Amino acid sequence: MSQFLRALPKAELHVHLEGSVPAELAVKLAARNGTPLPTSDPARLYRTWAGLADFLVTYEAVCAAIVTPADMAEVAYEAQAQAARLGNVRYREIFFNPTNHPSMTYRQQLEAVLDGLASAETDFGIVGRLIPAINRSQPVSVANDLVREVIAHRRDEVLGIGLDHDDSVGPAPLFAEAFALAARNGLRRTAHAAEAHTPGQITDSLDVLGCDRIDHGYLALADAAITARLRDEGTHVTTCWGTCCAHNPGRSQADQPIVEMTAASLNISINSDDPPMLGTDLGSEFVAAGLAMGWTREQGIAMSLAALDGAWLDDSDRAALRRSFEAEIAAL
Ligand SMILES: [Zn+2]
Repeated sequence: MSQFLRALPKAELHVHLEGSVPAELAVKLAARNGTPLPTSDPARLYRTWAGLADFLVTYEAVCAAIVTPADMAEVAYEAQAQAARLGNVRYREIFFNPTNHPSMTYRQQLEAVLDGLASAETDFGIVGRLIPAINRSQPVSVANDLVREVIAHRRDEVLGIGLDHDDSVGPAPLFAEAFALAARNGLRRTAHAAEAHTPGQITDSLDVLGCDRIDHGYLALADAAITARLRDEGTHVTTCWGTCCAHNPGRSQADQPIVEMTAASLNISINSDDPPMLGTDLGSEFVAAGLAMGWTREQGIAMSLAALDGAWLDDSDRAALRRSFEAEIAAL
């Protein structure tokens, strides 16, 4: 079963570019650019985190090590190469934090990331699309400026915007103006919500920010009305098995919030968030989630296809990708 889950073709809707830098590459970039990391030992850089704030210290140090467009392109290429190799990932909508790299303009970063994604698509057949994400711990003016940049440099590969970092720091309503601007310009919207803070972030993300997806959302279960709303409206929630378990170390695998979300008939996908930083990959996430929930082959296949339903693809691209998934699955 583990082999089958790992071999399934996969799509991923919740993964961070800067959280996808292999430790060896992060150490190499920091040395090349003279930026500090908590350690220069790749084996110790990504460790067990004492909560989200602890994790973000290293995440931001890795961001600071990515200084030039060449760095950015290399990171994008390596992130996609690993996903294709380790988890048979075929399609990804990838967050990146342009405002965490002040040495480059948005446009420089965008072109570099697209170069890396295109090379990876040529070499590994994995498609990458982008979601520039607002770092909610930075000032609102920075978020507004970012969305203006995204609009000024529109590319088909940029599907929408996100809102990430610590959801106990930047309440969703602060970013209403940035999200309204994105909406007026045809950008899709999603936000990290109820990962480690209150379930009310989900309501704010839907109603104030106009999101059509929610990232994480584990604390929805603390509020029956919000859980019912997500179910009734079929809102897609991009869950991440390893992250969820990290937030709930006292609960058994079979008792994780994602298990409850599935039992509550929420519309979820399984994603890897920050794979090397969390010691995982999407194949491992499927194996861990599948074994914890006792998936049948059919349930594994359903989860592989669920991400396509939640993806920001147009209907013809979605149908084409689904056909290729179904053909590959039939041959497994
Ligand atoms: Zn995330």
